[in-house]
Amino acid sequence: MDTNNLSNRVRSSILIIYTGGTIGMKKDEATGALVPFDFSGIYNEFPSLKRLHIDIDVHTMPKLIDSSNVHPSDWCAIAEVIRENYAKYDGFVILHGTDTMSYTASALSFMLENLTKPVVFTGSQIPIGVLRTDGRENLITAIEIAGAKYPDGRPIVPEVSLLFHSSLYRGNRTRKISAEELDAFRSPNYPPLAEVGVKIAYNYPAIAKAEHFDWQLHTATMLSEGVAVIKLFPGIGEYTLRAILSVEGLRGVVLETYGAGNAPTAEWFLNLMRETVERGVLVLNVTQCDNGSVEMQLYETGQRLQGVGVLSAYDMTTEAAITKLMYVLGKNLSAEETLEMMKKPLRGEFTL
Ligand code: ASP
Repeated sequence: MDTNNLSNRVRSSILIIYTGGTIGMKKDEATGALVPFDFSGIYNEFPSLKRLHIDIDVHTMPKLIDSSNVHPSDWCAIAEVIRENYAKYDGFVILHGTDTMSYTASALSFMLENLTKPVVFTGSQIPIGVLRTDGRENLITAIEIAGAKYPDGRPIVPEVSLLFHSSLYRGNRTRKISAEELDAFRSPNYPPLAEVGVKIAYNYPAIAKAEHFDWQLHTATMLSEGVAVIKLFPGIGEYTLRAILSVEGLRGVVLETYGAGNAPTAEWFLNLMRETVERGVLVLNVTQCDNGSVEMQLYETGQRLQGVGVLSAYDMTTEAAITKLMYVLGKNLSAEETLEMMKKPLRGEFTL
């Protein structure tokens, strides 16, 4: 089915939520300095947008930030803007700095419960007001995808996604992989939801299916503090690790291990992990490799870790693992219910 033409025929309305980042920068002609771009004048700046048959409104967050400063409270604020405007729009585009865009997209994928509309993250490596910007293409394509519908009105991509350069990815599968290249994001363990060329070629089987369009959106804004990421390295010291793991209020740890989820078998290390798990801290095993999955049964070094109660994160990214911990622990469920939520994919964030 050629939805490139169909999507243009069914009129849509989308809300752009502008949070800051490089995409929102423009050169002040008088001073030459980079100043924030006013997205509310979007049609004047990009008149060609009118041809998309998409009505666009813009919500600018009260404080525009470099995304290195993003905090879970900002994720809650974005989620609230989506909830307040959910009934009014067919889709949402979030303009976000690239540095932490994968964290925010992952967090929002969990926080927006019962989502049945597109939420497309995008940004740029070069400011939108610079001639050679990648922001213009990213913005226009993200708008088109957020507004894309089947002829019966159902959205084509009813999930949290991330559009960058020429690919649309599932948001919670992405990582920023380059500080320089325009093709700056990857989804190492899940195929793109769409490839953008002359046409937008949707990968329909890979896109989440929203079955219950009558469901109410619910925003889970109780995110747990007390989470940490620990990257193993040869020679990591017992005192260092013990110090991190004994931090007061620690509730969850993403342990970045080697290869298929392997870690040292030194007694002190395994005992420390066992003590931590027995204290009720959830330890999630994520691989340091760029792609592939944790398989703790494969080597003795992984089996020992599994034996002390460390959980597999399968092929989850660190970004998805840490935000899932915040989300699940934020629900304050029983230990069994918490484990149950951690062990199954909630928004397609890992492959079993
Ligand atoms: N430091 C910027 C940010 O993440 C970089 C960017 O937007 O590309 O907000």
